[in-house]
Amino acid sequence: NQDEKKLQEYMDELEFLAFTAGATVEKRFTQKLTQPDSKTFVGTGKAQEIKDYVTENGINTIIFDDELSPSQLKNLEKEIEVKILDRTNLILDIFAQRAQTSYARTQVELAQYQYLLPRLSKMWSHLDKQKGGIGMRGPGETEIETDRRIIRDRISLLKDKLKVIDKQMATQRNNRGKMVRVALVGYTNVGKSTLMNAISKSDVFAENKLFATLDTTVRKVVIGNLPFLLTDTVGFIRKLPTQLVESFKSTLDEVREADLLIHVVDISHEGFEDQVHSVNQTLEEIGANEKPMIMIFNKIDDFSYEKKAEDDLSPETNKNISLEEWKKTWMAKSKYPTVFISALTKENFPEMKKMIYDEVQKIHISRFPYND
Ligand code: GDP
Repeated sequence: NQDEKKLQEYMDELEFLAFTAGATVEKRFTQKLTQPDSKTFVGTGKAQEIKDYVTENGINTIIFDDELSPSQLKNLEKEIEVKILDRTNLILDIFAQRAQTSYARTQVELAQYQYLLPRLSKMWSHLDKQKGGIGMRGPGETEIETDRRIIRDRISLLKDKLKVIDKQMATQRNNRGKMVRVALVGYTNVGKSTLMNAISKSDVFAENKLFATLDTTVRKVVIGNLPFLLTDTVGFIRKLPTQLVESFKSTLDEVREADLLIHVVDISHEGFEDQVHSVNQTLEEIGANEKPMIMIFNKIDDFSYEKKAEDDLSPETNKNISLEEWKKTWMAKSKYPTVFISALTKENFPEMKKMIYDEVQKIHISRFPYND
């Protein structure tokens, strides 16, 4: 049924996040509760079941899909005696691994400290910190016992540092003049970097992992005779930690200040509609939901009918029909220009480029009404 399917999808994503962070997942546990147990998040019986499994199989980390309260974290760790991470922690850890520039590193460090502060005395107090590993990178490692005040000082220092960089970046954005600015947005791993490379013939890092891109890349692109600036932005994800949303202000400013958004969707992903919803929600949160937009459904080369419906009709005959159906559905319900492409095989690129050209031109004309 629907709930079960969603649950599997969420767990798949969590497993993918864990994989991205460098962990191998051995087993999944799920539990249906009307609300999480206030003390241990899962019920007592479930906690015991997890403990037994963990002990028998020499498991060293447990990852939860939700953010646990500091006390839930502490209680569970006392009970089960292995390292426990939650979704926020895991995402922060991935960001820490991926941060390339000093700006991104500063942003991640700030988010990590903000996450750490309320949990300071409670996390891993009885665990062997020498072992390191996921969730132990960055501030978790050495400063855990140090005074909260040191961390608070560090937080304000990092905030100051970011303010300076934010200002520089705002100036840089201003200096780009009146050129039309287009930002690629979308869920993580949908193919934004690949598309950026294909459109701008640049060489941005693309990888089948989550959050390959933390820093924004800006490229000047010319389609037809129209020049514009194209920005690749950090991917969105369901339940993006609030600490990160805040500290990635400049990155999100690129989206906020763009004239046109290109929303890239991975149609080969089973949960793509959910992802579209998440992205729209984040756009709303940052106040960028009223902008002109183009919807680009990517990875049509990897679309397969089996992923989309449990139907026992022959998959071969349905493959195309179904993609056609998705097209019809989305063309009808999307209030934006919509196109289906493959960034990999470049299928439908001319159509996509025409669409981008038309939208950029509209903005261009409204900006320079008396020119050519
Ligand atoms: P980003 O996180 O949105 O920037 O996504 P990336 O550009 O890093 O791509 C994520 C993964 O999807 C990479 O393994 C790409 O090779 C793959 N990918 C991107 N576009 C396509 C496509 O059109 N078809 C297929 N099959 N894979 C794609």
